[in-house]
Amino acid sequence: IVCPPRKKTTTNKMERAMSKGLLIVLSGPSGVGKGTVCTELRKRMPELVYSVSATTRQPRAGEENGVNYFFKTREQFQEMIENDQLLEYAEYVGNFYGTPRDFVEETLAGGKDIILEIEVQGALKVKEKFPEGVFVFLLPPSLDELKGRIQGRGTENQATIDHRMSVAAHEIGLMENYDYAVVNDEIDLACQRIQSIIIAEHCRIRKSC
Ligand code: 5GP
Repeated sequence: IVCPPRKKTTTNKMERAMSKGLLIVLSGPSGVGKGTVCTELRKRMPELVYSVSATTRQPRAGEENGVNYFFKTREQFQEMIENDQLLEYAEYVGNFYGTPRDFVEETLAGGKDIILEIEVQGALKVKEKFPEGVFVFLLPPSLDELKGRIQGRGTENQATIDHRMSVAAHEIGLMENYDYAVVNDEIDLACQRIQSIIIAEHCRIRKSC
């Protein structure tokens, strides 16, 4: 029996709909808890791949090269830019941060979901290249709460805290460029909301398919 062409197209559509991974971008102001949310999400969704960024920032206590970030000198970072190794990069509070390109592309081509925890300027650049990505903005319950969390972390001096707070207000103003807003009032709830978004996005009928 020869399959009629219409059936074959349907099969192709189904294969395409299922074969590519989702690119998920998680942004939100400094101190909102993106790192904690990502760590918890990875426990709950072990199949979710996490993109490790390159940065010129100094490692904080307990941070490991290749796990939290690839820590680079400014010269090394510049070389990555020149060799087109970064999908996006941005300067944030005096340091550079960027997403290694190959790892993201290979993960998606392999059919796996990948999450990028990046700030807003970088997220907007990713959106230009991957408009089909899923853009999630993590919000603090309030700005006061946010300031308390950054101060409580004890890793930044007052000038950096003030700078991060003013960047935070600007970033929240750009939230409308995202697909979803999730309030991080409680880690457990925030993770549940993001998991639900990922599940729903896998069920979405994409018009390009
Ligand atoms: P932190 O210094 O607190 O680790 O990160 C500062 C900001 O840089 C956070 O908002 C974090 O999400 C963002 N960031 C981390 N990696 C990247 C990246 O690869 N690209 C961009 N654009 N931002 C990043």
